[in-house]
Amino acid sequence: MGRSAMKMRTADWKTFALWAAGLGLAMLCMAWVLRQESSRQLQQGAEQSALNWAQYLSRSVPDLDQLFAGQGLTPAAREQLLRLRGADDIFLFKLFDRTGRLQLASDDLGRPDAPPPIVAQAARPGSASMSTPGIRDKVLTGESHVALRRESRPDRPAVYSEAYVPVLRDGQVLGVVEVYVDQSKRARATDNAFARVAVAVALLLVALLAVAGYQFWLRLRHQRRAEARVRYMAHHDELSGALNRASFTEALRQAVASRAEGGPPFSLACIDLDYFKDVNDSLGHAAGDEVLRLATQRLDAVVRQGDQVARLGGDEFAVLLTGLGSAAAVTPLAARIVEALAAPYDIGDQRVRCGGSVGVAIHGIDATDPDELLGKADLALYRAKAAGRGTYSFYDVAIDQQMQARRELTRDLRDAIERGQLSLHYQPLYGSDARTLTGYEALLRWEHPTHGNVPPVEFIPLAEESGAIDSIGLWVLRRACQDCASWPAPLTVAVNLSAAQFASHNLVQLVGLALKDAELPAHRLELEITESLLMNNTEEVMQTLRSLAAMDVPIAMDDFGTGYSSLAYLWRFPFDKVKIDRAFTHNLGHDPKVGLIVRSIISLAHSLDIRVNAEGVETPSQMAALQVHGCDELQGFLLGRPGPSAGLTHEGRVMEAEGGPGRAPARQSLFAELDMDLPGTKPAPLS
Ligand code: C2E
Ligand code: CA
Ligand code: CA
Repeated sequence: MGRSAMKMRTADWKTFALWAAGLGLAMLCMAWVLRQESSRQLQQGAEQSALNWAQYLSRSVPDLDQLFAGQGLTPAAREQLLRLRGADDIFLFKLFDRTGRLQLASDDLGRPDAPPPIVAQAARPGSASMSTPGIRDKVLTGESHVALRRESRPDRPAVYSEAYVPVLRDGQVLGVVEVYVDQSKRARATDNAFARVAVAVALLLVALLAVAGYQFWLRLRHQRRAEARVRYMAHHDELSGALNRASFTEALRQAVASRAEGGPPFSLACIDLDYFKDVNDSLGHAAGDEVLRLATQRLDAVVRQGDQVARLGGDEFAVLLTGLGSAAAVTPLAARIVEALAAPYDIGDQRVRCGGSVGVAIHGIDATDPDELLGKADLALYRAKAAGRGTYSFYDVAIDQQMQARRELTRDLRDAIERGQLSLHYQPLYGSDARTLTGYEALLRWEHPTHGNVPPVEFIPLAEESGAIDSIGLWVLRRACQDCASWPAPLTVAVNLSAAQFASHNLVQLVGLALKDAELPAHRLELEITESLLMNNTEEVMQTLRSLAAMDVPIAMDDFGTGYSSLAYLWRFPFDKVKIDRAFTHNLGHDPKVGLIVRSIISLAHSLDIRVNAEGVETPSQMAALQVHGCDELQGFLLGRPGPSAGLTHEGRVMEAEGGPGRAPARQSLFAELDMDLPGTKPAPLS
């Protein structure tokens, strides 16, 4: 790239030099032509003036034939010749007879005793021309001869013209008039004119050269900028201006090579925006792009000089942290990155939070190979995400294996439905008498080919993260409705809904279809949701819940009491049922305050016309306490463990002692019976 750019430049300079040389040559040619032309004009003018004078002299001087005949000058002739000698720029004239002998030179005119003819003077300097045979022969045959001369003789001007004009009578040469005219002034004028034109032309050419140079400079600048832009684009991500993947990989390779030669240690941070997909989905791609740009600016602002920020694609970033070779050294910077990304973004008039997670791998400790290092930083990132996002995490071998396993499990989960590895177990729900079966809660089971039974608390979060929850949740819904339709009415089925299922926007439709396909009345399906759903996206979720309730599907609040502001949610939506979390049930016998809380929840729910279920009933004393507090529904291992649909008998619990509506005696006998049975209780249908 650099070399070809250099070539381009050399080529350009060559073009420019050629241009300049061409113009210079043109200037020289122009000067030469001008010079020739001015010389020619000078010559023409000078010769013409000499010729004119000579002719004038030959015509205007009287009695010249006498002089040529050797009879001397008449006074009239002398007078005219004297006048002519003073005229204009004539500095010398000579008269020759028809044989070419000098008869008179103007220099001799002033002397009154000048003895014409002055034969002896034929040999004087200046008569050389007439002694030049070529000229003399030419002139004596009747032709004129003129010449411009430049000489440096003390008795002559620097530039002068001489003309030989034969004086003719009846076609016969009588003699020759030779006139010398000083042309210095004319030459000076011509030289001056030439100089002026030459200067004007030179200026014009210089101006042309300047314009060409300016054009060349503009083109060069434009080209340089285009080249710089191309170079920049080859190395940077166009959207964010951060380094692109290719150049980051190169930077990483260089850092590894430099470290091998004793260069500084370094670490690699992989960064992922936590809720970027949500921003993109809800606010559009332009907003998403803006978040990416702002996030890049924040990263640039937070890292130190010399650190390199890159966008690897999508919402994935990476930073090469130069000089930081230990977790202790990287920690403050990783924390700063998380903090910077956690701040809200103002996009238009919207304020969005996106957050970011950071995974760090340290060169020399975690890996030395660039690709491996990148892979490990990525694993650390995955771990940071699994830890709840908005945090940083370092690569760790043990956790690496765990993460790897998680990843594999996530991958396997995708095919679990098609491979028939998923099934539903049903746990019975009983009325407050602990005898009347009211329905079942559907609980998902995954029989993994190698890992065996994977508990839902392990794989449901994976399904939520990977998006597999949509298809799995739908499968559960349809299966549960179909199974319930095969049970005697009015037995119900409760299906757990994950918050992630509300994000797909078509939940109401899917529920409606599942009911319709199974021909199950809506009131026999119950949907269990958790508080976390209400904590996030409230208005849309509320709308969905209202639509479901309008379809006559009962809605239950699951795991009640484990969140932050459970009570507030109770009046925000008219739940049909609240399920007290099994942690309360578990502590019923241990802490008297728990009894108070449970009693309050039940009385509050009842005052709002909400039925109450207590989960995790494991002991008769727990059951008794719940019954005393007025709990409407009981669920737990004591009453029945979850089991496959095929084994369900749908029979109520048979009480050994005298039952009846009176609660106290039934409780007594039940305790005795169940306390004995409890250790060996199997996850089997109840009878
Ligand atoms: P959950 O909705 O609270 O379900 C009740 C869980 O408590 C079940 O665990 C059940 O086996 C267990 N349990 C029932 N009685 C007792 C008891 O007396 N003592 C104890 N210690 N536990 C009892 P499971 O089946 O392992 O499910 C765990 C969680 O997984 C469920 O908690 C629910 O949140 C989730 N889950 C199960 N199936 C699905 C499903 O189809 N969809 C979604 N979204 N979540 C599901
Ligand atoms: Ca549940
Ligand atoms: Ca629960």
